[in-house]
Amino acid sequence: MAHPLKHAESSARRFGGKAEDYLPIHNWFDESKAFFSDFRHRALRHHAEGIFLAEKLFGLVIVNSDGKQVPVRYLGEQHVREDLGRIPTAQDWLMQIKPQRWMYGQRLDEETPSTKEEVA
Ligand SMILES: [Zn+2]
Repeated sequence: MAHPLKHAESSARRFGGKAEDYLPIHNWFDESKAFFSDFRHRALRHHAEGIFLAEKLFGLVIVNSDGKQVPVRYLGEQHVREDLGRIPTAQDWLMQIKPQRWMYGQRLDEETPSTKEEVA
């Protein structure tokens, strides 16, 4: 599953109401695609911590157009499971980053001495 509308339609089948009731939450999960166009954008929000962040942003529950309360956490879990088949942690994603020297806090001028001369 890829497009937020597909996730929203799935939410409506599962929890009632209309797809539009759920679209803002599913759009939020996939907004990171604007920063990185392939599946790796999911590393930013498609994990357990992202689901709890959604809860902070949208509240514990939303009320759908049937007047029914739907927990935001359930919607986040549905979205992530539909995309990944499971709910990873942020650590699961971060462990896949190949460490680079600058990530340790190395300053550029310590890394390449010639840069210091060029700046001065
Ligand atoms: Zn997604």
